[in-house]
Amino acid sequence: MSGGMSGGGGGAAVLLAACDVGKSFGSLKAVDGVSMEVRRGEVFGLAGPNGAGKSTLFNLLTGIPIRPDTGKVIFDGQEIQHRSPRWIAKAGLKRTFQTEAVFESLTVMENVRVGSAYGGAGRAVRWAPARCREALEVVELGGDLDRPADGLSLIDRKRLMIACALVSGPSLLLLDEPAAGLDPADQDALIRLLSRIRGSGVTMVIIEHVLSVLEALADRMAVLDSGRIIVTGGPAEVLSDPRVVEAYLGPGAA
Ligand code: ADP
Ligand code: MG
Repeated sequence: MSGGMSGGGGGAAVLLAACDVGKSFGSLKAVDGVSMEVRRGEVFGLAGPNGAGKSTLFNLLTGIPIRPDTGKVIFDGQEIQHRSPRWIAKAGLKRTFQTEAVFESLTVMENVRVGSAYGGAGRAVRWAPARCREALEVVELGGDLDRPADGLSLIDRKRLMIACALVSGPSLLLLDEPAAGLDPADQDALIRLLSRIRGSGVTMVIIEHVLSVLEALADRMAVLDSGRIIVTGGPAEVLSDPRVVEAYLGPGAA
């Protein structure tokens, strides 16, 4: 992707760092002292059983809709754990949600236009049709911009949600289970799409249950279990680790 769409202006190798980040809901420690580093340009995978705290960690990193009780989040050299979701988005950290959040009654182009109004590096929000079209071309939805979003297939909804995040030119994109519900052919299409986005210079953190997606894309990954990171490393090494097998399949499985 050209010009303003590519992120990360060089500088330090670490783009995002979580330092001992924690969040409790009542007596439940949903995120229990997580520390991790995401390097500029890499795809970082995050796996772990249901309820491990993965989505909550994304919420804490982006300030949507909650803040950490403890710890620091450092993005591009600045502490952001006290910043508003809007400030964080404008600084270049964007995310998608686990459910395909598109505006059903709007067209494909209108959806991305809404996305372009949230975040982005400029001070004033300007309606930039060329950037919207460019983002839609990246996700291969450039063909019919006036199509209503409510008629889109699951993979196309995912493409649209990603375009809405990409349009403001993030340097870091957090994707929450992008492959959920896709058949193998659509999973392959998603992998191709995400590798193109990586090639355009966007750093990514991908939460994923479909481990083949992380095997195909992740440079490094971590597994979260009961709010804690239990293993970090290359995907092959992590996915064969006995602690990871046990976290997924239960005690005694490894
Ligand atoms: P994952 O994404 O790994 O499946 P979540 O981060 O969604 O897990 O949830 C982690 C734990 O925190 C779960 O037990 C969930 O029920 C709980 N949880 C998440 N958000 C809230 C909330 N807003 N209030 C209370 N409990 C929550
Ligand atoms: Mg989740």
